[in-house]
Amino acid sequence: MQLTPTLPINSPAVLAWYDRHARDLLWRIGPLDRARGTEPDPYRVWLSEVMLQQTTVATVGKYFARFIQLWPTVLDLAAAPLAAVLVEWAGLGYYARARNLHACAVAVVDQHGGIFPKTTLALQTLPGIGAYTSAAIAAICYDEPIAVLDGNLDRVLARYHALNVPVRDAKETLRAALQTAVPVRAGDFAQAMMDIGATICTPRNALCMLCPLQDGCLARHTPDPTIFPIKPQKANRPTRHGHAFVLRDGVGDVFLETRPDKGLLAKMTQTPTSDWTATATDPTFPQPGDWHHHGLVVHVFTHFRLELDVWSVQIADAMTLDHGWWAAPAHWGARRSQPFFARFWLKPGSNRRMAVLSPDHQFCSRANFSNDPVMIARRGRKPFGMKFAPQFIDQLDGSAVQKVSQHLVLSALNVHLDDDSVIISNVVVEPLRRIKSLDGN
Ligand code: SF4
Repeated sequence: MQLTPTLPINSPAVLAWYDRHARDLLWRIGPLDRARGTEPDPYRVWLSEVMLQQTTVATVGKYFARFIQLWPTVLDLAAAPLAAVLVEWAGLGYYARARNLHACAVAVVDQHGGIFPKTTLALQTLPGIGAYTSAAIAAICYDEPIAVLDGNLDRVLARYHALNVPVRDAKETLRAALQTAVPVRAGDFAQAMMDIGATICTPRNALCMLCPLQDGCLARHTPDPTIFPIKPQKANRPTRHGHAFVLRDGVGDVFLETRPDKGLLAKMTQTPTSDWTATATDPTFPQPGDWHHHGLVVHVFTHFRLELDVWSVQIADAMTLDHGWWAAPAHWGARRSQPFFARFWLKPGSNRRMAVLSPDHQFCSRANFSNDPVMIARRGRKPFGMKFAPQFIDQLDGSAVQKVSQHLVLSALNVHLDDDSVIISNVVVEPLRRIKSLDGN
């Protein structure tokens, strides 16, 4: 596609602005020190770039400091147990990044003698290092003249060119345009553009009067530069239908099973559930009995909306089902516990932060532990850690569909019980307001 003609990006102006306004970041060599010959440490740049993916600078700061304190060099990080790295990563999310981080450190040590490769192409052979991260490291550390384009830069460039299509449809065109502007000080230029995106041309604001790109920026002359980038049209979200079955035996135990190893909510614990289908079907109950309907639970995933009819039954013979396990609330999750998990137990009354880490390291969450008996941590729609005071344990009598405070637990991977507290992690919840009906409530 063709961009609307405008002036090329004024690299000298960008660098002059950076020399005055560069952010002071733990992992950064500022422009003055860089000019005096101080070279960035690729380990620190790489670590920060991996942490900054999907995470803000403010959040990353303390994690970065902690990692550097524990593992000052890539050799130290490579020698660390993966479990320890995952624990320290707790709260940053997207745990594949932490696993790749460790794998990359090991590869740098094993294959490159502990020294990061110096070019974009060579860096991309390492685990977890893709086009963006390799370009960032190569530019910042070695002044490779390459365009470094992340989400912030997408926005800045979409505004600069008043891009009339969504960025995803013009990514390579924007990259090529930026590439023509990369100066000899490629690293400083990349970081300058990052800083402009973070401080001047932010998602909700465009401080054009302060911006070193203002001469050529086309959006600046529009009534509202923040209408760029243009958002792609949302696809219609289809609905899937299914049934969730809560079986309880004579002593109140609930039958649980594990979801398949692959696919959505892989390995998560649930009560038996039907397939999710495009059209509503009648339930096929896993066990004969006097089943009662409890209403409809709605959960909206990224790509589809799920409507689950909830059924429960009281059955006499708990031994007739063999593909899952019967669980009293006090024993939920015991079969999945791992030794290191126990290190994170905290008692009611403690206000310390805690990490809730799943045995398969898929998700993690931090939460403040207190006597507050309601849900205490949630991050968007992502699985998260929950903690309940003892008086609520009795209410947690089935992991698939339970009402807790103002939320409803759809499924939970781990449920661990201590003497006086219960921690549930990897939970998918839904605010009650989304629930059409649940026993008439
Ligand atoms: S001139 Fe305004 S809209 Fe253009 S890049 Fe700078 S801040 Fe953003």
